[in-house]
Amino acid sequence: MNQYEECPECGNKQLIIEGEEVSRPRYSAKTGKLISKGHCFHTNGCQYTCCCGWFSEPTKYHESLPEIITNRR
Ligand SMILES: [Zn+2]
Repeated sequence: MNQYEECPECGNKQLIIEGEEVSRPRYSAKTGKLISKGHCFHTNGCQYTCCCGWFSEPTKYHESLPEIITNRR
């Protein structure tokens, strides 16, 4: 994916990376009760966004996240 350091529209350097994550909660098939909220998180993708309303193309699920995020995991 393209990694942005500033907004191509307005030049703002305080961009936000908006992630889309899916958790895997576990429910009892018998009672429907929540057993655990799920500690396995799967990232679907993310996109850059700016306060001016600009959005980057979202990543596809198979693309890696920007390094600034993966380096922190
Ligand atoms: Zn902007």
